[in-house]
Amino acid sequence: MRFETIAIHAGDRPDKAYGSIAVPIYQTSNFAFEEAGKSKGYDYSRTANPTRKVLEDTIAQLEGGKAGFAFATGMAAEATVMHLLKTGDHVISQDDIYGGTYRLFQNVMQDFGLEFTFLGLDSRERIEKAIKPNTKMLWLETPSNPLLNIVDLELVVEIARKHKLLTVIDNTFASPYFLRPIEYGIDLVVHSTTKYLNGHCDVVGGAVVTTSDELTQRIQFLLNALGTCAAPFDCWLVLRGIETLAVRMRQHENNALAVANFLKEHPKVKRVFYPGLASHPGHEIAQRQMKGFGGVVSFEIKGGLEHLKAFLSRLKIFALAESLGGAASLAEHPATMSHASMLAEHRKKAGINDELIRLSVGLENADDLIEDLSQALE
Ligand SMILES: *Cc1c(COP(=O)(O)O)cnc(C)c1O
Repeated sequence: MRFETIAIHAGDRPDKAYGSIAVPIYQTSNFAFEEAGKSKGYDYSRTANPTRKVLEDTIAQLEGGKAGFAFATGMAAEATVMHLLKTGDHVISQDDIYGGTYRLFQNVMQDFGLEFTFLGLDSRERIEKAIKPNTKMLWLETPSNPLLNIVDLELVVEIARKHKLLTVIDNTFASPYFLRPIEYGIDLVVHSTTKYLNGHCDVVGGAVVTTSDELTQRIQFLLNALGTCAAPFDCWLVLRGIETLAVRMRQHENNALAVANFLKEHPKVKRVFYPGLASHPGHEIAQRQMKGFGGVVSFEIKGGLEHLKAFLSRLKIFALAESLGGAASLAEHPATMSHASMLAEHRKKAGINDELIRLSVGLENADDLIEDLSQALE
């Protein structure tokens, strides 16, 4: 099956019990055993749940991995993955990453004795210089949040394999429709399903996709031991969202490209970050490695913070809100919102300036979105 078909048919569908076309919501904590010691395949919903299983199988197939796991949030998925490591292990992380990921590493995992080095992943020398005897994991995002930097997966995987590092990618921004990292040799894929996979701003969720039996067993064990799994109704919402992922991603991209082209020519805009623009430093790699460029556009506005605030408050269609990937367009200010938990000096080093605005370009009519941006910039 191809992508669009997998998105609608993967997993145990139609339901075996009554042939229900919509995946049933098994809103239950536990399951009756046939006899002592013999279940019908499910015993307790933390360990496994049939609604969750359909979502997990669907995401695993969309990513081309071994097995999928659904978590309560993207951060629950990430926290679970970090439990693959032990005190004393060292992690190389891209510096331009989701603010909450940075906070998990810097303010939580570091207290458990994990070591982190944050750096740009665009140079072989820089990465190799950072590798130490205790380095175990390499964590990345492409396109990254909020600057849409593109990481060359072939390069990073080659270095990681040479030094036996586990590679983890946060594929939230591209979604498997635009990027399938496992095809490049990445070991683990994580998602905030809150974003494009669900796509309607009505749930928080996360996912992990594995590529080996060893990782599958370990993640299943950790999910159950930590209790970080997703609830059945939330899984059902994500499953419904995924059915339209392909058509939504195409429309997000068309609209994002129109918005990026408009902003690029505007006199009040200093710089536009969108990998679909030929001027973007990662454009060529993105073109080679991705099927499309996604729906997030960031830009730096001229005129200082006063103008930035006025712009954000004048927007009518774009809501001033964190998050991304929904049908409705959103605008946000990384320095005070999504990336406020990142130290100011770290933001500066990563190139996230105070005048940066991030847009999640939604599924509205592109002309309406451009008119909204235009009136707010005046
Ligand atoms: C939102 C987001 C997360 C965190 O996911 P939650 O579902 O909010 O916990 C992680 N990574 C990226 C890239 C995100 O955008």
